[in-house]
Amino acid sequence: MLTPARVLLVGAFFSVLVGCTTGRVQKGAAGADPSEVVERSLVILHTNDFHGHIAERDDSAGAARIAAYFAQQKAQHKNVLVLDAGDAISGTPVSTLFSGVPIFEVMSLMGYDFGLIGNHEFDHGWRQIEKFRDAANFPLLAATAHGPDGGLLGDMPSTIVQRGGLKIGVIGVLTDKTPSMITPTGNQGTTFANVANTLREQVARLHPLVDLIVVLSHTGHEPEQRLAATIPDIDVIVGGHSHTPVETPVLIGNTLVVQAHEYGKAVGRLELVVAANGAVTMHRGELIPAAQLPAADPVVAAVVESWEAKVAAKVDFEIAVSDRLISAIELRDWMERVLRERTGADLAYYNRGGVRDVIRAGSVTARSIWNVEPFGNTLVTLRLTGAQVAKMLTENGDSAGRELIADKTYLVATNNFVGAHAQRLFGADAQVQDYGLLVRDLFIETIQKNGLPRPFN
Ligand SMILES: [Zn+2]
Repeated sequence: MLTPARVLLVGAFFSVLVGCTTGRVQKGAAGADPSEVVERSLVILHTNDFHGHIAERDDSAGAARIAAYFAQQKAQHKNVLVLDAGDAISGTPVSTLFSGVPIFEVMSLMGYDFGLIGNHEFDHGWRQIEKFRDAANFPLLAATAHGPDGGLLGDMPSTIVQRGGLKIGVIGVLTDKTPSMITPTGNQGTTFANVANTLREQVARLHPLVDLIVVLSHTGHEPEQRLAATIPDIDVIVGGHSHTPVETPVLIGNTLVVQAHEYGKAVGRLELVVAANGAVTMHRGELIPAAQLPAADPVVAAVVESWEAKVAAKVDFEIAVSDRLISAIELRDWMERVLRERTGADLAYYNRGGVRDVIRAGSVTARSIWNVEPFGNTLVTLRLTGAQVAKMLTENGDSAGRELIADKTYLVATNNFVGAHAQRLFGADAQVQDYGLLVRDLFIETIQKNGLPRPFN
């Protein structure tokens, strides 16, 4: 095993040879005293959009193997910062059945330094975020999210942390598009400040006090690159929300933009050397795929197992056997058909973001359908004109697959998430009728009765 000093000397040498720098004045790296280089080096480990995948399954590593990797890195390197960029919950039965709390309990055993509130942290209403903050033994940042009373929903907007000889400013932001992405139920009165303006303020305040500024962002890879291009003095944006596997860091000006896929399928690792003048003189970033992570940490594995045992009886029973992979697009079409048939509606609409998994070939369990629909949405109908349907679809980034008559009223079957947003758009006009029936249960029941969706031909 290489000692930390040797690893970093190799890194510094690499930067001189390849010119792998952020373009600022190089000072302190080449020919520097090795102990000083160690003092001024940092390894950032990062995850995002974990979505409740604490158990190892399919291509997700699970919390216990990720924790083992964090521990291994901390044993090998002096200065390590472990970050999560939001949407830790919602996506698995263990998360939904226990309203997200087990995920933060498990993450507390994994060795995170800071987390971030993402849009899905609002899935159980903003008050539940207080429970997440209690369960997490690391601060959840969020500079842009506020409760109805104007109070900050995160533990803090930003903070300064010391690693070796480095003072690091960490700022947390989540997308200002959050209101259109969260269930209005339990989230009335929450407000989301403009991300760019908030970052400008926070960066201006921290810049004179620190060597390095790291932004934890849940806004998506494209917007994160735009933030990097327009706001100076950010060294690193650890991103999330778009579930993007950024294999090597994207360098925009002097800002490195990274993101580590989704569901614990990979862990991001970014190694930096920072000169005395605050310039990043060496960087090397990569995604470590789940398959390359070490064996499970037994302590974390035991806690994950105890939580998973509580949900097994509810979800681990076979409902069908599939001879093929059923894509999310095909599933969505089938889900719309099921909702239409159940209600006798003229149209059915299911939001794309509401279909969270595919069905794989082999045994299909109730858990498989939970993974497709982890939110616990209910069946609703709406009465909307053709023009209103078109507006609703546009708001969701969709278009109608058929001609709609603008002034004709349609009965539309959908889920309560879409229904609540229609009500926000059209008020009482939308005539939302909630059946109180979980769409997930309807899908499970339909498969048990009629089998899996059949291929188009
Ligand atoms: Zn998100």
